[in-house]
Amino acid sequence: MLDDMLDYMEHIRQRPVWQPIPPEVRGAFTAPLPRQPISLSQAHAQFMTQVLPYAGGNSHPGFMGWVQGGGTPVGMLAEMLSAGLNANLGGRDQMPLEVERQIGLWMRELFGFPDTSSGLFVTGSSTANLLAVLVARTQALGAASRACGVAGEGAQLVAYAASSAHSCITKAMEISGLGNQALRQVPVNAQGQMDVSALTRMVAADRLAGLQPFLVVATAGTVNIGAIDPLEQVAALAAQEQLWFHVDGALGALAMLSPELAPQFKGIEQADSIALDFHKWGQVPYDAGYFLARDGAGQLETFATPAAYLARHTRGLAAGSPWPCDLGPDLSRGFRALKTWFTFVCHGTEKLGAAISNSCALAQYMKQRIEATPELELMAPVALNIVCYRFRSANANTINDELVVLLQESGIAVPSASTLDGQVVIRAAIVNHRTVVADIDALLDATLVLGQKLTSAQPIHSLHRELL
Ligand SMILES: *Cc1c(COP(=O)(O)O)cnc(C)c1O
Repeated sequence: MLDDMLDYMEHIRQRPVWQPIPPEVRGAFTAPLPRQPISLSQAHAQFMTQVLPYAGGNSHPGFMGWVQGGGTPVGMLAEMLSAGLNANLGGRDQMPLEVERQIGLWMRELFGFPDTSSGLFVTGSSTANLLAVLVARTQALGAASRACGVAGEGAQLVAYAASSAHSCITKAMEISGLGNQALRQVPVNAQGQMDVSALTRMVAADRLAGLQPFLVVATAGTVNIGAIDPLEQVAALAAQEQLWFHVDGALGALAMLSPELAPQFKGIEQADSIALDFHKWGQVPYDAGYFLARDGAGQLETFATPAAYLARHTRGLAAGSPWPCDLGPDLSRGFRALKTWFTFVCHGTEKLGAAISNSCALAQYMKQRIEATPELELMAPVALNIVCYRFRSANANTINDELVVLLQESGIAVPSASTLDGQVVIRAAIVNHRTVVADIDALLDATLVLGQKLTSAQPIHSLHRELL
């Protein structure tokens, strides 16, 4: 099994990035309860033939659809160790928790956070952003709101995020009981960054209307185009207006590991909290999201709950309070910290940072090639690692939507489709450390061939073999 997975990673380039799932393969997983066992090798064989070839493809260097990391052999081996150990990181006095705390110390150092900061591994930034809304809500309403809920004063709370913010911020407002109408969408400038003067006006208007502004979410690397909101300006306004300043750094925060890119994130060190994903640019296997708070006390105030069966001691296995279960919603938790620790120590942060800046260099290369190709059109500024473009055509929205599907089905490259100002764009997010110039060329070459075929109504079924 180990050999199969090492071979998979080593030779992934020879596979299609993605391929449609045949109906009989899909159907193999609609079986009834397995009352009698099959052998481990039979289960493994089924995995090899029916699961592995039809995965999403994000380990492949040609995968640029959505923002997803590539994983590494080191991360895979660490996952095997954690599964073998079967540690439950909800709490108690155990060394796996010190590994998680080590990551907390590293994040504190990376973002220049004080000794009072605390952090927590979560599934991903969707959850980390939810924790930010919950902690900010409890700070704004006081710990008493845990008893009375948000129906009273909570109804007055308003939060702000740019119109380019990730949809999980809206979801977090809904889950937190504040409702998505309490999230103001701040307009963005031509670079796709939050317009801070508009934010200033919106906060003033809400105060005048008797509402209580409590939270501003800035994004460090927007999901659609990779824009970085003006963090320092947002920090200054948040300080002046006493708003919780949260940074959604799911995509971009780890660019702090790159000395060339870090200056663009100036202001992030002033955040009250940061959401980030090790499973994206950190190349840690799924899932590994992280929530970092400047003041751990607020996190405890939001989540710590006394329970007789979770009583703490100063000695014995129930020592070591506070526990992660005091800092977030989960009690039982896996050992996400181990694969993150292995990834950091076995590669070193200089190399991880270099892989991040290399994705941005590839994005600049791609931008230049698009600008030098008359059939293609660049659709957004390229600040980090995301390139939005389209094939020029009279019928551009329909053609480019179809083009993305055809590219995915070709197995050559996987971009995703998105929409910017009503225009359908082909979006390439370069995150995987395995991606090189040839992969960018393959995507653009395939876009040209398929785009020409689509617009001239030539048959397109044989593209995969032709181009490979
Ligand atoms: C990916 C992403 C998220 C969501 O993170 P998950 O880890 O997928 O839950 C949130 N915000 C931004 C900017 C992202 O890129």
